[in-house]
Amino acid sequence: MYLEEINGLKIGSFPTLDILAPELSVLFFSRKGGVSDPPFDSLNLGHGLGDPQEKVEKNREKVIKHLDLLSKNIAKMDQVHGTNIQIVDSGGPYAKTDGMISKTRGIALAVSTADCYPVFLYAPSEKILAALHVGKAGALKGIIGKAAGMMADEFQADISNTYAIAGPGICGKCYTVSDSDAKSFPCEVTRLRKDGWHLDLPRFITNELEEAGISKEHTLFSNICTSCYPELCFSYRRDKGVTGRHWTTAVISPRSLSL
Ligand SMILES: [Zn+2]
Repeated sequence: MYLEEINGLKIGSFPTLDILAPELSVLFFSRKGGVSDPPFDSLNLGHGLGDPQEKVEKNREKVIKHLDLLSKNIAKMDQVHGTNIQIVDSGGPYAKTDGMISKTRGIALAVSTADCYPVFLYAPSEKILAALHVGKAGALKGIIGKAAGMMADEFQADISNTYAIAGPGICGKCYTVSDSDAKSFPCEVTRLRKDGWHLDLPRFITNELEEAGISKEHTLFSNICTSCYPELCFSYRRDKGVTGRHWTTAVISPRSLSL
């Protein structure tokens, strides 16, 4: 992931996508450049966490301005760690859902996180985009396979030619889980260390993508751990539940019709 500072915001992007799918823009908005006070400093984009509403709105305005979109063209989810996936063709809030699939150009699909992984699937030939909120619960319940299945069944997307792009999330060294959580995952993605069980969620996500038909060669990870980089990222676990939320957004350019 390439990080650059633009108008005070520190934004991550995937330069490889410029070659693979130039019409697709995936951006990670780090915690830098907002107006919120600690512990939400500073670009907290999540409501209902204890940060004043007007500050969150100001932060969202900064992101929307950078995206060069109208706020009505942002599709965001009320995420519940489930596997509900909605097909969307306009912005707005979507209740109780952890996945969106769209072929509409100029609509930003936003995933809100602070340790879970924002995962995007993109079929460049058919220009079908999926945005998924993938934590341990959603991953285990199969949200990745479900999204790939819907892209293939409902939009005839060629999954063997589909890319996966994952933004920042918690790494295996930082992610401790309960004994029962560890036992519900395959043993190759868990490890018992001195401080208890650790879950390698990015590895499990990679396995789930492969199972769904998306190869490792077609998978891009940011390789940024939310817990390892406090100056850049909010981390629910590191900050003991009191922290902000970032957005990672994906947009198919409205100009892609002419590409
Ligand atoms: Zn880490």
